Amino acid sequence: MMLHAQPTARRLLSTAVPYDLIVIGGGSGGLSCSKRAADLGAKVALIDAVEPSPHGTTWGIGGTCANVGCIPKKLMHQAALVGKELKYAETYGWNGLDGSKINHDWNTLSKTVNDRVKGNNWVYKVQLRDKGIKYYNAFAEFLENGQILVTGVDKKKTQTLLTAPHILIATGLRPKYPDVPGAKLGISSDDLFTLPSPPGKTLVVGAGYVALECAGFLRGLGHDVEVLIRSRPLKEFDTDCVNLVMEHLKSTGIRIKEGQEVKKVEETTEKKKKVTFTVTGDSEEYDTVIWAAGRVPRMESMKLERIGVKRNERSGKIEADGEDKTNVEGVYALGDIVEGRPELTPLAIQSGTLLANRLFSNSTQTVRFHGIATTVFTPLELSTVGMTEEEAKKKYGEDGIEVFHSHFTPFEYIVPQIKDSQFCYVKAICLRKDEGQKVVGLHFVGPNAAEVMQGYAVAFRVGISIHDLQLTVAIHPCSSEEFVKLQVTKRSGKDPRVQGCCG
Ligand code: FAD
Repeated sequence: MMLHAQPTARRLLSTAVPYDLIVIGGGSGGLSCSKRAADLGAKVALIDAVEPSPHGTTWGIGGTCANVGCIPKKLMHQAALVGKELKYAETYGWNGLDGSKINHDWNTLSKTVNDRVKGNNWVYKVQLRDKGIKYYNAFAEFLENGQILVTGVDKKKTQTLLTAPHILIATGLRPKYPDVPGAKLGISSDDLFTLPSPPGKTLVVGAGYVALECAGFLRGLGHDVEVLIRSRPLKEFDTDCVNLVMEHLKSTGIRIKEGQEVKKVEETTEKKKKVTFTVTGDSEEYDTVIWAAGRVPRMESMKLERIGVKRNERSGKIEADGEDKTNVEGVYALGDIVEGRPELTPLAIQSGTLLANRLFSNSTQTVRFHGIATTVFTPLELSTVGMTEEEAKKKYGEDGIEVFHSHFTPFEYIVPQIKDSQFCYVKAICLRKDEGQKVVGLHFVGPNAAEVMQGYAVAFRVGISIHDLQLTVAIHPCSSEEFVKLQVTKRSGKDPRVQGCCG
């Protein structure tokens, strides 16, 4: 740790409490690093607190994923899927489900979701206590001498001084609010899951996965939803697959507004949000506006400049190397706060575990950032690992790759004749000249895409060819088998629709 002069304002505090590791941020990355370090015998302090959203929403330990991210999102996605299943249950002989009487109670769902979230908060606290990790529900601030000043969220704002040879920053990101008049009238995903009343007619602003997932489940729960998209949706995903996801979203009744931005938001006397758009100057009233156009660091209060931690000029995120080291000795960063890292919980978790192993056991193992699988939980899910077709073409040339693909009908869609099958699709991108036709990208649009892709991600990591897929005996009947049944190449121009089912 670089040492500078002790700031006078802090002299009143008693001597710093020594730890082996101080972790700032009790989200996916911070928790995993703390727990693993404690398992390896380190004396660990974990500091976590939440800056309230502009609407005053706050939450407990566990970070974004457990409180306002993956978990509440997936539960609401599941709630929407259950609603869809109910509609088709009669075709399987279920009686007593009068379609016209089925409706959704937002408050029940919101309570269910939040009970689950609170349960997770409690589990984390117990785990920290059992492992002997000192948890400070407090904000952390760096002092010039590299010590950490901890200010509690209690009424007295109790302050404690901590010191350690290793300090980890895992403070994550928060939703970005646009710089337009009335922006604060809108909410973000930080507020959505605890909204006290149903969102109603909703405008979701954004083209990334958070925007489309929120739009998808809100529509599935019966709300009138419009999505305002400025740039290409899901821009890091395979274009064919994104087009199918977008077409499917539209088929559910979601309206997509393109090529405009929000100029201003005003509140009407009926508490509606009147949104005026750029370009046309049109305006429309909504019950709820959700900003979902990116997430940004909020680190001002940490005073990183006091020890000179390097941040990316454009994004404001922290620069760290493959071993999570920042430019300041003894200070590490991982998870969403690090420039260039995919913003994913499992990546933050693995980074935390491996960092603890490197610091407190003899490990040199680092995360392999290439080939990380991920899923977009839109009503029809999109899962992916490896390169998109566009990336592969750019790297290997059009002649350098072979694209195997098929449109398939999920077995569960057959009896109720669910029209969504027209959007279900699998694609394997392979190297053409390579003898075994090595797979460089796998993509799946369909139900349970995350469940399908997790296993293929392991195979992808090890390295497989299209022949490995084709020689694998399928599990039948399921959607996942479509990967091992791939035969039709794009180049052949043959119909990629799967015909028949059992032979
Ligand atoms: P976080 O989990 O954000 O934790 C950081 C913690 O540090 C927070 O508790 C914060 O309040 C605290 N903190 C910040 N500053 C200070 C300070 N000065 N002092 C003390 N504490 C501080 N990922 C997936 O893999 N799958 C998904 O399906 C998925 N869905 C998502 C859905 C939504 C709506 C959102 C918003 C995100 C989703 N993510 C998903 C992303 C995932 O949540 C993040 O990648 C993950 O939480 C990052 O973990 P982290 O440890 O880097 O940061």
